[in-house]
Amino acid sequence: MANFKTLDDLPQDLTGQVGLVRVDLNLPMQDGRASDVTRVEAVKPTILELADRGAKVLLLAHFGRPGGERHSTMSTSVVQGDLERVLGREVMFVSEVGGPVVRQSLGIFRPGDIGLLDNVRFWPGEEANDRAFAQTIAENADFYVNDAFSAAHRAHASTEALAHLLPAYAGRAMEAELRALDAALGNPERPVAAVVGGAKVSTKLDVLQHLVARVQHLVIGGGMANTFLAARGVAVGKSLCEHDLATTANRIMDEADHAGCTVHLPYDVVVAKEFAPNPPSLRTVNVHEVASDEMILDVGPQAVEALGDVLKTCRTLVWNGPLGAFETPPFDAATVALARTAAALTQDGSLTSVAGGGDTVAALAHADVTQDFTYISTAGGAFLEWMEGRELPGVAALMR
Ligand code: ADP
Ligand code: MG
Repeated sequence: MANFKTLDDLPQDLTGQVGLVRVDLNLPMQDGRASDVTRVEAVKPTILELADRGAKVLLLAHFGRPGGERHSTMSTSVVQGDLERVLGREVMFVSEVGGPVVRQSLGIFRPGDIGLLDNVRFWPGEEANDRAFAQTIAENADFYVNDAFSAAHRAHASTEALAHLLPAYAGRAMEAELRALDAALGNPERPVAAVVGGAKVSTKLDVLQHLVARVQHLVIGGGMANTFLAARGVAVGKSLCEHDLATTANRIMDEADHAGCTVHLPYDVVVAKEFAPNPPSLRTVNVHEVASDEMILDVGPQAVEALGDVLKTCRTLVWNGPLGAFETPPFDAATVALARTAAALTQDGSLTSVAGGGDTVAALAHADVTQDFTYISTAGGAFLEWMEGRELPGVAALMR
């Protein structure tokens, strides 16, 4: 495991010390209220732990894309109420991120008080990763905690520069995420299976490329499977398919072959002539029997059962992308079935299961396995970049 400091490396008693905590408060809003507070729940343990250890806690976050200018609608004060509700504590709003206003506010803070700084993207220095700007934030604090893995793929002042200006620590959510990702791909127990699905190969080329050299089983599902099947000469009818990527798909399969990675493509599929809930034209067929006016919309039941057997031989699973068009029944069947197999194996203790991706999180919630996987990342872009094997600046800055 790469080396990073956690809250355990801070003195137990933090009375009066000022801790800057980078959090993700970019909550989805509806009628002036957050429609989902998962991101606040995620950072709650770090915030309360630091406050309870006596620190003065300053929360630093972005909200929307104000482009380096103040926009009152994008002030972090919009989520102050949601924050207070989830934390169960009073949160004081501070309309700046650095300088004398923050200094004066800190003067009236007591140990354990929590402050919310304004949207760090109001200042152009944030996205420019400007060191002088970061210094104006750092000078009011004693230490820096990053608890926003979801923002770690960006080299911004609040995710990168600050980590070099103050003693830097991973918060509890960041710590859990890094450990889970390490267990899934960094330093996994073998054999490792990867499930990659979703709509298109073109959005996940780098992911596939990175995985073939690292996993023993690569399961390809979703619309992407059609591109691979077509590359092998299978007629996929009207399916979503990137025919121009045939060469790329074949190259990836060759690379997998050389690396000793078995690629699993479906051999039965669920097809329909129209994309609608429970369409009358619904059929389950062998991949070689897809008619020219049909679309492949899910992996078939026999293939799913075989994939379940593959997972039974594996110790680690990393999953990104649904196996079918899961939003529309019955094309959720394969995703739900394989997710439940993975969940059961995880609960039995034979499998470490890590998943991530916007639609994947929704699909696994739909399968009702969110609690049963080892870890489900809600980080979106950062999760995908990590699956591509890229170094995340916000994580790298913590590794010293
Ligand atoms: P994630 O957000 O988890 O990374 P993607 O965005 O890559 O996942 O892909 C999810 C989308 O892929 C879903 O909207 C799903 O309906 C679609 N999809 C999966 N299988 C198919 C298919 N066979 N045909 C068309 N769309 C599909
Ligand atoms: Mg998506």
